Amino acid sequence: MAVSRPAIIAGNWKMNYGPKQASSFTLEILPQLGQIIRSYPYVTSILCPPSISLAAVREVLDAMPVPRVELGAQNMYFEEMGAFTGEIAPDMVHELCESVILGHSERRGYFGETDELVNKKALAALSHHLRPIICIGEDLAQYETGQTSEVIHTQVHASLANFTTEQAKDVVIAYEPIWAIGTGRAATAEGAGLVIHLIRRLYGNMYGADAASTVRILYGGSVTSANISEFMAHPDIDGALVGGASLKPDFVEIVRKTVEVMEQA
Ligand code: PEP
Repeated sequence: MAVSRPAIIAGNWKMNYGPKQASSFTLEILPQLGQIIRSYPYVTSILCPPSISLAAVREVLDAMPVPRVELGAQNMYFEEMGAFTGEIAPDMVHELCESVILGHSERRGYFGETDELVNKKALAALSHHLRPIICIGEDLAQYETGQTSEVIHTQVHASLANFTTEQAKDVVIAYEPIWAIGTGRAATAEGAGLVIHLIRRLYGNMYGADAASTVRILYGGSVTSANISEFMAHPDIDGALVGGASLKPDFVEIVRKTVEVMEQA
């Protein structure tokens, strides 16, 4: 059965795996990942190693090409080039990658990234034919004091602003409640689904019903092979951004279970 929104399972390796380890881990998981993904055309898997390891992983992916197994960066700057020590430019990322994660809560929290900066980066990514995976989500205090909707309103309007209607369809949004990241305390599928439904509605108000029904919205926060099926069974959830479990062969199981759920739908 044709699927209206193909799923994305992205692995955020964070600051793990330098070039050698990244290359050997990719070699370890790619044969199985390839087998699963080749058999089912509606799932894309995106590996997001640290920037220093992108070229090493690209080399492996080019040597053993699998359609829909792609490469993503974890961050980039919005300027084209110049005196921005330590940063990487959109063109540089585009030489190797199809996607880039932007506004991860760790970038926002440790490096002071604001919605406005994330939005500039997203616009730069889109104009360089990179798919931005834009992260939003509330922290624990906001969650516990019932501010989730308000935080999401603000982040959607500021981080996801100024796209053209066509660009709006190419964006991927990751709803990542900060209290669920790396804690082992995942949101429930129902809870995540409600927030994702809200994000889709707000996005529709900004870019129209067509963009809202096309945009992929992922859940992120302590996803493993033990809980991915629940998230994928929710009609509003289009995949996952996976941190810790993407560093292990469990990532392949997450993709396998995603396919299982989608095949049954
Ligand atoms: C993440 O880093 O985006 C993430 C969701 O991490 P984890 O899966 O480890 O919670």
